[in-house]
Amino acid sequence: MTVAVYPGTFDPLTCGHMDIILRTTPLVERLVVGIYENPGKRPLFSLDERVRLVEKAIANVSNVEVRAFKGLTVEFIRQVGGKVMIRGLRANSDFEREFEMALMNRKLAPEVELLCLMTSSQYQFLSSSLIKEVAQLGGCLEGMVPEHVAVALKEKFTTPVGFAVGRGEA
Ligand code: ADP
Repeated sequence: MTVAVYPGTFDPLTCGHMDIILRTTPLVERLVVGIYENPGKRPLFSLDERVRLVEKAIANVSNVEVRAFKGLTVEFIRQVGGKVMIRGLRANSDFEREFEMALMNRKLAPEVELLCLMTSSQYQFLSSSLIKEVAQLGGCLEGMVPEHVAVALKEKFTTPVGFAVGRGEA
């Protein structure tokens, strides 16, 4: 049974990520989308929120599941019995980084093979960080993120953080 793992921060899930997920599922028996906690990136969405956003998006796909993880990606892949790591490639800059990580991961876990899928042309310039910038400025995200992700982003940027008015106070 071929188990593949698609790891990433998914802060938040975009149509570019979904495209990679939906192109991978016909190739493998089971796909595990691994949501990396990634505190270093100071994610906008909590780990739980990111998991729920992906779960909702893949609800109708039978051979995909979502798991959160901390620590080394290759350790997580081993834990779920994965044989293949899936990554998506956009620009040259992705290639450099993925290449570097792939060589390190091969040292750490030579039994895990890396499979990189080229982005579909309409998602070439799509990244979670750009999506967050556009959302913060109130731009339209149609066709770039699933609808429920657009709603979640809108809520994030309209809910004042840490703004609480005490009851009965002037
Ligand atoms: P990470 O922090 O691991 O880069 P991301 O959520 O940004 O996490 O990306 C997860 C994976 O999805 C990476 O392999 C990334 O290159 C890929 N990816 C992100 N956006 C796109 C896109 N628009 N098209 C194809 N692949 C993408």
